[in-house]
Formats: sequence, C-alpha cells, structure tokens
Amino acid sequence: MDPVDIVDLALVGGGGGAGCLVLTALDRHDLTGLRIAVVDPVRRRGQDRTWAFWGAPGTDLEPVLSASWRRVEVTTSARRRVLDLAPLRYAMLRSAPLYARAAEAERRLGVTRCDAAVGALDDDGTGVTVRDIDGRALLRAGWVLDSRPGPPRRPGRTSWLQHFRGWWVESATPVFDPDRAVLMDFRTPQPARGVSFGYVLPVSDRYALVEYTEFAPALIDDAAYDAALRGYTRLLGVDLTRSAVREVENGVIPMTDAPFDRRPSARVVRLGTAGGATRPSTGFTFSAMRRQAAQVAAALAAGRDPVPRPAYPGRHRWMDGVALRALDNGRVGGPEFFGRLFDRNPPQRVLRFLDGDTRPVEDLAVMRSSPLLPMTSAAVGDAAGRLRARLFRS
Ligand SMILES: Cc1cc2nc3c(=O)[nH]c(=O)nc-3n(C[C@H](O)[C@H](O)[C@H](O)COP(=O)(O)OP(=O)(O)OC[C@H]3O[C@@H](n4cnc5c(N)ncnc54)[C@H](O)[C@@H]3O)c2cc1C
Repeated sequence: MDPVDIVDLALVGGGGGAGCLVLTALDRHDLTGLRIAVVDPVRRRGQDRTWAFWGAPGTDLEPVLSASWRRVEVTTSARRRVLDLAPLRYAMLRSAPLYARAAEAERRLGVTRCDAAVGALDDDGTGVTVRDIDGRALLRAGWVLDSRPGPPRRPGRTSWLQHFRGWWVESATPVFDPDRAVLMDFRTPQPARGVSFGYVLPVSDRYALVEYTEFAPALIDDAAYDAALRGYTRLLGVDLTRSAVREVENGVIPMTDAPFDRRPSARVVRLGTAGGATRPSTGFTFSAMRRQAAQVAAALAAGRDPVPRPAYPGRHRWMDGVALRALDNGRVGGPEFFGRLFDRNPPQRVLRFLDGDTRPVEDLAVMRSSPLLPMTSAAVGDAAGRLRARLFRS
C-alpha cells in the first residue's frame, strides 16, 4: 500500500472476529462511501474456531449457523438440568462462513487490504498514522478500530484462563442428542485449582463438537487434554474405536478482572478481546463483539464517531471480579457456583445477565443466588485489593 494512502476508518487486526463483525455490519448499512482499510498480516479463512452464543433467532446470521438449540443442559454430579431458553436459543457459527461473509463485505465496500503487522498508532487528535513494526507509515486514518490481541492496562487481581480443546467427533452409531447442547457438564474430574467441564455442540446424532474446558490459572499439556477428552467422550457413551476425530480446536481466552483500554487515544478505539469484550466470568465474547460492531456501524451511518458503549456495565464487571476471586481463593467451587446460578434463576435471566443486559434488581437476584457468605468475603477482599492498588499507584 502507498504510505500516503488516507482512509476514513482503519480496522487494525481487522481480519479477526471483531473486525469481521464490523465489516459485515458496515455492509448492512451499505456504507460504500466510507474509505476503509483492513490491516492484518493474516488473511483468515476456513475453520479455525467455532463460535457459540445465545440470542433471539431471526438475525442476519441465521443462514450461516451450523446448528441452534432451544434447550441446553447444565449437569453437575448431583443433577442434570435441561433448560428451555425460549424465546432465546443457543447457536453455533463456524468461522469459515463468517470469514467468507466479511470477505464479501470487503469487496462490496471497496476495502483496501494491507497484509502488514502493525506497530505504533500515532494519534495527533485529528487522525492516526498507522505504522508497521519497523515504524514505517502504512496509512493515515480518520479513526482506527484496533482489535490486535494486547495486554490489559494493568494486571488484574485475578488472572485466569479459559483454555480448552475440542474434538469434532463422528460416531458410527447415534450417540448425541441433536435437540440440545451441553453448556456445562461438571462430571469431569475437577483440577486441584480451577474448574473443569465438558461441552457438547451436536450437529446430528452422530456428529458433534466435544470439548474439555478449564477455567484455571494455568494451561495443561497436550497429553492432559487428550486424556481428559478420552475420559469425557467415554462418559458420553462414545465408543472411540468406532468413531473418528475429524478436526481439533484449541483455544485460550483471558478471564480476568484487569481493565482493558477501550479508548487508548482520541481516535483509536479498541474492540474485541483487546477492548474488554470478553466476559471475565465465562470467556464469552462473541455477542459483545457483535453488539459493538452494530453500534459502530450505526454511529458511522448517522455521521457520529465510531465509539461503541462499554461491552458490559461496570457493576457486572465488579460482580465478575468478585466471582473470579471467590473461585480463585477456593471459597466457592465452580460446579456449586454455576449449578446454583442456574437452579435459582430462569435461564433467560442468567443469559441476559451474562450479556450485560439485566437491570440492577435482576442483578441482585443473580447475586443472591450465589453462595452468599464466601462471595461477600471475596467482595471485601476485592475492595481491599482495590484500595491497596489505589494507594500503591498514588
Ligand atoms: C478457538 C476459539 C473458540 C472460541 N469460541 C468462542 C465462543 O464459542 N463464544 C464466544 O463468545 N467466544 C469464543 N471465543 C472467544 C472470542 O470470541 C474469539 O477469540 C474472537 O475471535 C475474538 O475476536 P478478536 O477480534 O478480539 O480477536 P481475533 O479473532 O484473535 O483477531 C485478532 C486479529 O489481530 C491480528 N493481529 C495480530 N497482531 C497484529 C498486528 N501486529 N497487526 C495487525 N493485526 C494483528 C490477528 O492476525 C487476528 O486476525 C473463542 C476463541 C477461540 C480462540
């Protein structure tokens, strides 16, 4: 790309999930007059991840979903809960159709593509010079939406990871129930620190994504993932001698109360995981990225600045921080915490809460349903941690 190229909007890291969702949202608004650049060294296509999310059916994503379920299961050793999500549903979107849609949007919007790794973003308040990692100017943009992976503004009090491995299992015999997804199955052996669960997204009675997930401070090695998946598939009744693992998916998602910089400078807005779209207590990110993409596109269509609202209300981030702390210090067990959450609230309320969409009175109900005493002492610890951090900074 010519270094003097000038665009209205640059999507830095725009080949990833957040960037693709922004491109498709801009396309829906038919913003063809906007000069847009995507700067990302990787051209993403194919299946590198599977997104699952909930919401009301009937959106523009419907034709590209691989499956959706009105019912989901949350299972602890004590109880199997089958939750009816109506009017919501849980849905699965594989990455290939989203990347293809974004590529199509790029073509229609006349986007300039730059396959470079970005280093500095120099914002002088009237525009941003986007530089490569050697400091060379790549382009100048009126606004930058930056979704490159990046660290939080400062470390959190709890920094866990959601890490997982998934097998796309094809079984010779019918073994999955295609009418329901398994959201959390805590019958997996629990790690010494953290929480583990199985997760199943069935596409048919013989084909499903089966995952082993941990919320924990540290990663595990390949052999441990495979052993855990062998154990979990056995628990599901899958005979691995009569099944094939067609694809493998790995992922690591931050779960932290650390603050992410949403607006590092006047004309730079961070989106995606780097902008705080990952819900600390669950790792879910997709819905928030989608919401923010819609807000960005609507703002630009209305001639306003492309600055979305925060991904989640501050009180929810605080509650998540408290929950993470209680899980981290072992005062609350993961199966107990999530089991009670779903036992004592309608599933729609829990899902809306996780989307940051509940009113304060509903938040109180969610809070009341968690193990109160350990959570309260975790909250006191959280407040003390904040105070210490503030004193230390001043
Ligand atoms: C395997 C997997 C499964 C997931 N499943 C779910 C799920 O089911 N539900 C859910 O809600 N969330 C899920 N997530 C979490 C989250 O939705 C995804 O991580 C999502 O892709 C985050 O989007 P993003 O744009 O923030 O980051 P990414 O999609 O990772 O995109 C970041 C982009 O930045 C680019 N980049 C990196 N460095 C530079 C640089 N120097 N200059 C320019 N570009 C750069 C990269 O090439 C990449 O394209 C999953 C994550 C993973 C990894």
